[in-house]
Amino acid sequence: MDPVPFENELTFETHRQNDTVEEFHQSYEDAVTDVRATLGKSHPLWVDGGPVDADEQFTVTSPGDFDVTIGEFAAGTPDDVDRAVRAAAAAFDEWRHTAVEERVEIFRDAVEELRERKFELAATVSLENGKNRTESIADVDEAIDFLRFYSRELERHDGYEFDTGEPTPGQHCRNLLRPYGVFGVIAPFNFPIAILAGMTTGAVITGNTAVVKPASATPLIAHKFVEILTDAGLPDGVINLVTGGGSTVGQPLVEHEDVAGIVFTGSREVGLSIERAFQDLGKRGPVIAELGGKNSVIVTTAADIQEAVSGVAMGAFSFSGQKCSATSRVYVHEDVFDQFLSRLVEKTESLGIGPAEAEETVVSPVIDDRALERYADICEQAASEGTIHTGGDVVDASDLPDGRYVEPTVVSDVPHDHALAREEHFLPFVTVHPVTDLAEAIDKANDSDYGLCAGLFSEDESEIETWFDRIDSGMCYVNRAQSATTGALVQAQPFGGWKFSGTTGKFAGGYWYLPQFMREQSRTHVRGARE
Ligand code: NDP
Repeated sequence: MDPVPFENELTFETHRQNDTVEEFHQSYEDAVTDVRATLGKSHPLWVDGGPVDADEQFTVTSPGDFDVTIGEFAAGTPDDVDRAVRAAAAAFDEWRHTAVEERVEIFRDAVEELRERKFELAATVSLENGKNRTESIADVDEAIDFLRFYSRELERHDGYEFDTGEPTPGQHCRNLLRPYGVFGVIAPFNFPIAILAGMTTGAVITGNTAVVKPASATPLIAHKFVEILTDAGLPDGVINLVTGGGSTVGQPLVEHEDVAGIVFTGSREVGLSIERAFQDLGKRGPVIAELGGKNSVIVTTAADIQEAVSGVAMGAFSFSGQKCSATSRVYVHEDVFDQFLSRLVEKTESLGIGPAEAEETVVSPVIDDRALERYADICEQAASEGTIHTGGDVVDASDLPDGRYVEPTVVSDVPHDHALAREEHFLPFVTVHPVTDLAEAIDKANDSDYGLCAGLFSEDESEIETWFDRIDSGMCYVNRAQSATTGALVQAQPFGGWKFSGTTGKFAGGYWYLPQFMREQSRTHVRGARE
């Protein structure tokens, strides 16, 4: 398939190229002030085009400042899920018969609104999940890209319906993809608009209807996205938002008999439990799941060490390592190991730790108390079974607000097969391991249940070719100093994982994403001349 060029929404990069970075910062800071002034409200569920109150609510506070209440959100129940699924099921027939052009137009109108409210949305992400300004704006940019790209692809493929001719006289054939029905959309906290918008758009633009369950930590940005789609003209019931917990909303949604398919991004544990539930219940629809990672980087003797250090530090520690793509284990040739490690420690100690809204912040707060507990636990293990070169503690600084700040942590002297180097921690924590050659490094990189992202630093073309050929990973990056393993642009860098990092082998933001939300139908109509 010939790729058709696609222009990504690159807000910060565009400001940099236009020499208007100051304007970018001002717009973001004004938006933070404005959004702060609107926080703390109550947010009902959104079902069948209207608000629905729940008996109970849960409170979300900012991970970077516990004094900031993001809002009170309806705690959905299995009954609320049922009501939302019924609304989505009722809306399905009309929506699936809505012309492709009409569906696409709604999503394109939503893009205009997302652009209009870009800084407000980025500020909301920062306050709600603690992501810094450039990454929050990139989160919104990616959401915009998903809407634009999927609109374009659906249109470019004429709604995935085409004439397959008349193979024998009188047999007129067509081939088409048709939506399944109601999709459950279950999203993670860490890309709370990009991933939620991408998954929702994939499900809905293809003619399905949806019940969306955002992560409990990030319901506000989900409300804003649903509001934008509703204002753009999405009919009542086509998208429904049920906030609440994994077991009280997520699981009943998965198990509901009228939910035909699930699109999920989150941990391996929950993703696999959803697959199992579908199997146990005899459901035949798709579970499109993007899961965790344990992303390796290899540094050879032919690497530019400074670039490798920069790539690993950013890959491991930006947004406090709370990315499925975060760099978490590094295999360094023994001849350059000491040099790499000492420079990585120096670079790590120079990174800004602080609230998302502060301009210099790279290492932002972690999302919840469970993350703090995991951090304490793995640092204790690393101290007793390996060597912590920097980090290992929560940050105790009087100039920081009362939030969840931890030090980025660099560890060595743990074996490659140690749990610290095998399990996903989703924290600013990286292990560094010496290797004797590229072959050993690749073997160790591949010796993982996961296969999401991988990086290599080498200037040697034959090493690069060998690595591309042998690495078991969906996303592969060579010499990426801006970040060794994180960051992907819609269309140019479709995003997804192999092995236990995903269930479908098809990637978000890529050419094969949309067809997953539909099933094929082959139509033969015998008319005219007979065989
Ligand atoms: P979780 O798996 O904890 O949660 C993801 C979503 O599932 C949340 O909405 C959660 O609700 C919900 N959920 C929890 N339990 C259930 C259940 N039993 N049934 C149905 N839904 C449930 O992931 P996180 O939000 O903590 O996100 C981090 C994880 O996501 C990491 O493993 C990361 O690697 C992965 N991820 C993968 C990406 C990829 O593209 N491969 C991209 C981004 C993240 P609640 O919040 O209420 O618990």
